[in-house]
Amino acid sequence: MIEHVVPMETFDFEELKKQRGLKKHGYMDIAAQADGSMMRIPYCIIVGEEEGPTLLIDGGIHGDEVLAADAAAHVYQELSPKDVKGIYIAIPHLNLGGFNGGQRMNTFTDVTHADMNRIFPGDPNGKITAFILDKFVNSFVKHADYWITCHDGGNILYLTPTACYTNPELDEEFGDLTLNMAKCFHTPILWKNNPSGGKGGREAAGATSARDLAEIWHKAYLCLEIGGNSCIMEEREKLYDLCHEGIMNLLVFLKMKEGELAPFSEDSIETPVDYLHITHGGIYKPKKKLLEKCKKGDLLGIVTNIFGETIDELYAPYDGIVVGTWTPPVIFPRDWACLYGKL
Ligand SMILES: [Zn+2]
Repeated sequence: MIEHVVPMETFDFEELKKQRGLKKHGYMDIAAQADGSMMRIPYCIIVGEEEGPTLLIDGGIHGDEVLAADAAAHVYQELSPKDVKGIYIAIPHLNLGGFNGGQRMNTFTDVTHADMNRIFPGDPNGKITAFILDKFVNSFVKHADYWITCHDGGNILYLTPTACYTNPELDEEFGDLTLNMAKCFHTPILWKNNPSGGKGGREAAGATSARDLAEIWHKAYLCLEIGGNSCIMEEREKLYDLCHEGIMNLLVFLKMKEGELAPFSEDSIETPVDYLHITHGGIYKPKKKLLEKCKKGDLLGIVTNIFGETIDELYAPYDGIVVGTWTPPVIFPRDWACLYGKL
């Protein structure tokens, strides 16, 4: 290795955790780009003065999703090592290649156009997105006792704030814990996920999403799905506050910070959620509002073609509730059109 040619900043968790009272943000360098600038993973770390567990919050695995990760970075700015028992790590934007272009995937310097949340645990011999993911997994995830991934609707989806936990009936180890972690965020929807995505056999097939890896590595894992860019005009502040208060509340719940736990909401709906697809591409027009309750067979949305003719209709497959809806001006064949919870 000719490391001296390109100086690289590293992230060494074992070394950093020895430095009680540390508060630091910076970058873990990955590789130099053709123009000499660095591909890197940004991080914020607080090593509390008192011992405790390690909480990892990552955001921006999809480059156009910024809401909850923004709150995680601000929480870092507001906390001091005196406040924290254990270690708080926030990754504001894991996929900076996508983030710099304001888009979900890094299509600029990765010819595979890989979706970073479909190729866990990454690949040390892979293209750049898989390579970055491998570094993230082995330098950050490996050390986490609690792991939160922040998503939102980004450029393509309008989402009721949702926290995704693991079904307690199917996971004695993490079910109740992750449900309570989810409740810290007071989201209207609590998305119940079955281990292995309900399909089973993922371990044999290898991990694909962060949730799959969390299951294989036995991590207490929570995924946030908050808002989306189409909410920003009206709801950005409200959603930011929800994330910010949720992270603070979670720190109290995990006994990593002093304070009083805000009571859990009685109104949150615990439900499994499905992505519903349309078949034909065109202009998608939702017919139900977010959080609207529907009966099996209700019309959820239509697709019209460029002549104004209806060419597809999406019906509720069961009694349920609308959790999210697709927002791009043009919808593609077989695209997701609606996120729909079961009641
Ligand atoms: Zn996402």
